[in-house]
Amino acid sequence: MWLQRVGRSLGQGRRHLSAKIVKGTSIEVQPEDGESAATMTFPGVWLRDNCRCAVCFHGSSKSRRLDWDAFDTRVRPLSVRSDKAAGQVHVSWSDAHESSYTLAWLRQRSFDTQRQRSYLEDFYRPSTRHWAGAEFEQIAQHFDYEQVMAEDASLKQWLQALAVYGVALLRGAPLDEGVVRRLAERVGFIRRTTYGEEFIVQAKPGAQNFAYLSLPLPLHTDLPYYEYKPSVNILHCVVQTKSRGGSNLLVDAFHIADRLRSQHPEDFERLCRIPVDWNDIGSEDGREFHNIWRAPVICLDAEGKYARINHSVPQRDSHFSVPLEEVEPWYESYARFVRLARDDAHAFKTRPGDVLTFNNIRLLHGRTGYDDTEQNSRYIVGAYLDWDIIYSRLRVLKKHAPPPANKS
Ligand SMILES: [Zn+2]
Repeated sequence: MWLQRVGRSLGQGRRHLSAKIVKGTSIEVQPEDGESAATMTFPGVWLRDNCRCAVCFHGSSKSRRLDWDAFDTRVRPLSVRSDKAAGQVHVSWSDAHESSYTLAWLRQRSFDTQRQRSYLEDFYRPSTRHWAGAEFEQIAQHFDYEQVMAEDASLKQWLQALAVYGVALLRGAPLDEGVVRRLAERVGFIRRTTYGEEFIVQAKPGAQNFAYLSLPLPLHTDLPYYEYKPSVNILHCVVQTKSRGGSNLLVDAFHIADRLRSQHPEDFERLCRIPVDWNDIGSEDGREFHNIWRAPVICLDAEGKYARINHSVPQRDSHFSVPLEEVEPWYESYARFVRLARDDAHAFKTRPGDVLTFNNIRLLHGRTGYDDTEQNSRYIVGAYLDWDIIYSRLRVLKKHAPPPANKS
């Protein structure tokens, strides 16, 4: 694990340390004698930009305070000297400044691809593991609600599972309406939407939202019509219907996208490229709303990884603002995506006291229909959390957690 390797390297570095200027602009640091693999190269401009002195860096806010209006991107190291005892590298620069860096700090920021990957996948955001519906029982982890509320180690495990698999189940929650808020506040704070902070999913006549009916609810992501979509769904089952229906349906849409990418690359390309108008029109608590956001079904990030998935049949606008010739092929590609997802959906029924948590911008969720009568009702309390808040909490938990036993 990243943090651990960093810790381990602290002591080792003091034994040997050398540094030299290479190619006129970079600095090569050699922490251990005779091991060329351990050599680290740092561009001078980056080192100068990240000088740790009090003029260039504000320690208590951990922020750069360097005057960038005067920053010379052609700055060059004039001399470099290593201090083995202190485990530090000192640099004199062409702009008449001097900087010092500890070996531990340099190691953590090494441009070595292995080190960078470890930082990105262990600390920045855990790598996702995609799954088929048939694998659901193996990948879905269960946690005890009270334990998550009381113990940081459990909290961390739950959030890690949620990040990696996109779904995790908490069990044994009390049957009061405050559970979702207490759980969200254990992590950070609730993400508010048009539908409020906590929302109740139960059949109601004249519903403003398709989810508030007892009809089958086809697979979808929530609020695709927001640019800033709520990230994680928390659904607390308070009362479960005794009818045969009312099961949750879940699909890992990243897995569906993987299948499209390998088996139907043209459909994949279209669903990544063509923006769809998603919308939601209505009113809640007397306030009228009209939400629209244009985005493809599969959204990729700057590195080509999945950023988010958008899918909702009811919340897809009748406006489709694309060139005419894109329309028919897009329908074929979308129909394939929907078919693959439907065939892969895993159905299961939560019980009173279960809290189902899942990634709303990755998983598709739905519900089978059920009979709603006075004797046979279903009552789910929901809320959203945002990934920014979750990842931040997870990183802080990882920083403060005692290092796990001897595993490099
Ligand atoms: Zn400085």
